[in-house]
Amino acid sequence: MVDVHMSREVFRKERQVLADAGTAALGAEKSGNPLAGAFSVLVDEYGRLLRQSRRLVTMGDRMQHALNSLNDDLTLSEQKYRGIFENVTEGIFWCDANGALVEVNPAMAVMFGFHDSELFLEAVPDFRSLFCNPEDYELYETLLAADQVRQFQVRLCSSESGPLWAELGASAMQELEDGPGGVVGVLADVTERKHMIEEMRRLARTDSLTGLFNRGYFMELTERELARSRRNGGALSMLIVDVDNFKNVNDTYGHDVGDKALVSLSRILRESVREVDAVGRFGGEEFVVLLPEADRRDACRVADRILDCVRNAKVGVSGGVLRMTVSIGLTSFEEKEEDLDRLIKYADIALYAAKKNGRNRVEVYRRSVCACREHGTCGMEDEAEGQES
Ligand code: GH3
Ligand code: MG
Ligand code: MG
Repeated sequence: MVDVHMSREVFRKERQVLADAGTAALGAEKSGNPLAGAFSVLVDEYGRLLRQSRRLVTMGDRMQHALNSLNDDLTLSEQKYRGIFENVTEGIFWCDANGALVEVNPAMAVMFGFHDSELFLEAVPDFRSLFCNPEDYELYETLLAADQVRQFQVRLCSSESGPLWAELGASAMQELEDGPGGVVGVLADVTERKHMIEEMRRLARTDSLTGLFNRGYFMELTERELARSRRNGGALSMLIVDVDNFKNVNDTYGHDVGDKALVSLSRILRESVREVDAVGRFGGEEFVVLLPEADRRDACRVADRILDCVRNAKVGVSGGVLRMTVSIGLTSFEEKEEDLDRLIKYADIALYAAKKNGRNRVEVYRRSVCACREHGTCGMEDEAEGQES
């Protein structure tokens, strides 16, 4: 601004000089001075040059003004960017075209267990090294090459932090003539959110007392297995397990002891089956076991094992040891058109038979061959046991 005032002052003086020169040229002409004509031409030329240089200076002033305002905008924009960069809770990073980390904000350093950005950059030279799984980095690069990366959930870790779940967004920076290029991205630590969702999912599918699958989720799981068996022709069996005379347990020892007994029983059931088998609590003191890839013979073995384990288990209660037995209804998937309701119905019928035939035993709902008779023995005899009612 000082320059503008100065140039105005210079022009004012120049104009004054020009006006004086004009007056002098007029005087010389009147007095018949022979050099008056040449002097007049010089004054005109001087005036023309003055106007031209004035225009140039004004243009320069305007350009300077535009540059100043551009500079102000840039400073403001840089301040805003810095404010965000320094203060957001999300991590912000900038990598060069080779994936080397050039700059990270303080939040990103803290996210990975470092006190500040410099320490982080010394320890973590490139972005790739943050990925727990190298295949995830390859996927990230592929996504980036195709477009920008958005809400990419990935496991990341550093030497100073345990693995964390991050949600990653990134985009390639435009490569200018002297510009940096590379990639700029944002990371949010979503570990807690992820764990909460997992926990909510777990709660939605488990029974709160025993931790086994609840009825709803068990049905969902069984539907899926049933569909697979129908498709592949694979075997599938189901057991319904009901505690014998459980009411007596409650009546004798109280409801709390009853609860404890149910928890112990759940553990026994879980331990009696394979990892791939599913155990659910159907309600009250009734449990259900799904045995994928198990035909009737396999299922009978499992059922016998359960009977044995329950029979031999001692549940410590105040005042002694509690012993329990269970009755089991067993059915195996045989006909393509059988659905889940039908399977449950068959297992229930077999369970009813087990109760009727003395408890502490397995009964098989069968179309023709297998029967389980002795206490805890699932034999193979030509005798039909379960009856559809
Ligand atoms: P059965 O051999 O015929 O199956 O006899 P039962 O006594 O086991 O069967 P019944 O259906 O007469 O009684 C089931 C009992 O289970 C009654 C109910 O109070 C108890 N029960 C159901 N759910 C729970 C629970 O969550 N905790 C406890 N402690 N008891 C429960
Ligand atoms: Mg019962
Ligand atoms: Mg019952």
